[in-house]
Amino acid sequence: MKKILVQLDNDKFPSVFDAITAYDAGVEHLLQYGDITPPQVRDLVYGAMFTRGGDELKNSAVFVGGSDVTAGEKILKEVVDSFFGPVRVSAMLDSNGCNTTAVAAVRKMLSVDEVSGKKIVILAGTGPVGMRAAGLLALEGADVILTSRNLEKSEKAAAIVAARFKCDISAAKVSSLEETKEILTDAFAVLCAGAAGTMLLPEAMWAENSTLRVLADVNAVPPLGIEKTKPHWNGKEVAGKTIFGALSIGGLKMDIHRKCVSQLFSRNDLLLDAEEIYDIAKSIDK
Ligand code: NAP
Repeated sequence: MKKILVQLDNDKFPSVFDAITAYDAGVEHLLQYGDITPPQVRDLVYGAMFTRGGDELKNSAVFVGGSDVTAGEKILKEVVDSFFGPVRVSAMLDSNGCNTTAVAAVRKMLSVDEVSGKKIVILAGTGPVGMRAAGLLALEGADVILTSRNLEKSEKAAAIVAARFKCDISAAKVSSLEETKEILTDAFAVLCAGAAGTMLLPEAMWAENSTLRVLADVNAVPPLGIEKTKPHWNGKEVAGKTIFGALSIGGLKMDIHRKCVSQLFSRNDLLLDAEEIYDIAKSIDK
């Protein structure tokens, strides 16, 4: 029986990235739907629920993607609300790569040392990756500060993360080099989660900071988020800091993404969001 993945995407054109990754993870056929909104979900999911009975249900699964994480969360809720009793299929949410990328970054950072009680700053943390990483680091006990160029935006994002992960997250405005330097005082780690091609942390600032031990950057597009680093650095030791570039994080992200999609077909009742993807990632070498 063929492994069939139903790809529900809020963008007009369902993500090619997610499609290729699905095939690389062992999916044999993809059913792709774009421009998806919650009212359209139930009938599509019913098509997956009512075609294969009993143990065979595990050969069908749903993947929720697209660039809008909030829209993705609503679609996933509609997917789950369509199920009843044992009549269900496994489902995964990774809108904009938010979960798999954040999980990979956090796993790399945690490979250096535990973070409980330590200050971690997420620069430009208001995007999908930064917000998911903030929640996961807070669940590990870190004192997380999520920054934005706009205070209101950082507070809104921190509140969403705090509610979603049931944790405390601080917010701060960082829109100048002085503010960047100030927020990194006493910090143990920093994750640069800014938009592609956005340099957030100059070399002099990170090299001279005496408390920073771990630096991670998810931006692979020059200029990189952390100045004078390399995207392939995978735990490179420089000036007493351990540094992870976007390509090393991205490599782990691909392993995590593929493993999660593959696991969807191991049973018919898996629900993979940030926390579950994080747990699966623990079985993958960093
Ligand atoms: P995003 O939403 O595109 O951007 C994150 C934040 O960056 C924005 O909310 C914005 O924050 C800030 N920002 C935008 N332009 C800026 C500028 N000119 N100066 C300073 N800050 C700016 O990011 P995302 O989708 O979460 O992705 C984060 C990063 O991860 C991106 O670089 C993306 O390319 C990368 N990524 C990597 C992988 C991988 O596998 N390695 C996978 C997915 C994404 P404020 O407006 O609040 O200041």
